Amino acid sequence: MAKIPHILLIYTGGTIGMIKDFETGALKAFNFDKLLKHIPELKHLNCSIESVSFDEPIDSSNMNPHYWISITEIIENNYEQFDGFVVLHGSDTMSYTASAISFMFENLSKPVIFTGSQLPIGDLRTDAKENLITSIEIAASQKNGKSIISEVCLYFEYQLYRANRTTKINSEHFDAFISPNYPPLCESGVHLKFDESAIYKPRRSKKIKIRKKLEENIVLLKLFPGITENVIKSILEIDGLKGVVLETFGSGNAPTEKWLVDLLKTALKKGIKIIDITQCVFGSVILGQYETSVQLQKIGLISGKDLTTEAALAKLMYLLGENIPASEFKDVFETPLRGEMSD
Ligand code: ASP
Repeated sequence: MAKIPHILLIYTGGTIGMIKDFETGALKAFNFDKLLKHIPELKHLNCSIESVSFDEPIDSSNMNPHYWISITEIIENNYEQFDGFVVLHGSDTMSYTASAISFMFENLSKPVIFTGSQLPIGDLRTDAKENLITSIEIAASQKNGKSIISEVCLYFEYQLYRANRTTKINSEHFDAFISPNYPPLCESGVHLKFDESAIYKPRRSKKIKIRKKLEENIVLLKLFPGITENVIKSILEIDGLKGVVLETFGSGNAPTEKWLVDLLKTALKKGIKIIDITQCVFGSVILGQYETSVQLQKIGLISGKDLTTEAALAKLMYLLGENIPASEFKDVFETPLRGEMSD
């Protein structure tokens, strides 16, 4: 008889496991054991589940690369013993964490599904149960004895997305995430409908590599009409700055003013990597399409194509941590590494 899948549930915090503080009325994280008591349904799933929790569960606004490494190490230390992983995480920064984890695992061949909820699991109208139960089902879904999913994903409100394609767009609706430039990998209705053409095909013969060096000296700089020379200069002159994710207009456009191009040039000369991504939610950077991006292309800005901001930041932290030779950095960045950008 085939053995049932073994799933590890990793609780990091977030609304899903929160309760109201008696005194302040604010939501705060509580003990994970209690969380499981709220979902007796888990016993009926066709898989075995073990769980592990952060010692101190956190609101995801407190997430940072050190916690990303902790999540990575939990998965690393349990990789052989389990068939899939479900990470419970606050929704606020879930796309950042899940994007980072996608880069930290190269040649992943098992599912890592991030999920959470907008209402605590104890709430009558909670979305937590559906999100959690279906995430576990997806992590346990196999075909010919192999996991159907073998990449880092985010499941929320009936949709499974590639994690590094997602962004949180609603602080109130249950339907809180979108994947603007890539289709869902699975939709949950009466049946789980996987889209085989969208799912990443793992090269199982390749050995898994885990990367934990992340460069944190980077900045996200969003242009707006009227942004001053002084502001941009101060940011680009930050001591020790290694990289910039520059959110530009439309298909990667910026003011053509000389001072801006000169400041960017000086930063590039110092070895700072500058990634051009669009402020638009949908669509891609196309350097050179308009006069307003020709200079940016000429001086050597890196095209972030259709990356989300979350994935651009994560990819930059990851690649800067890899010590890639300067002459190759642009090419490597512009290449899809985990399905995070279109070719
Ligand atoms: N503030 C919460 C968090 O991100 C919101 C949530 O879980 O949805 O941790």
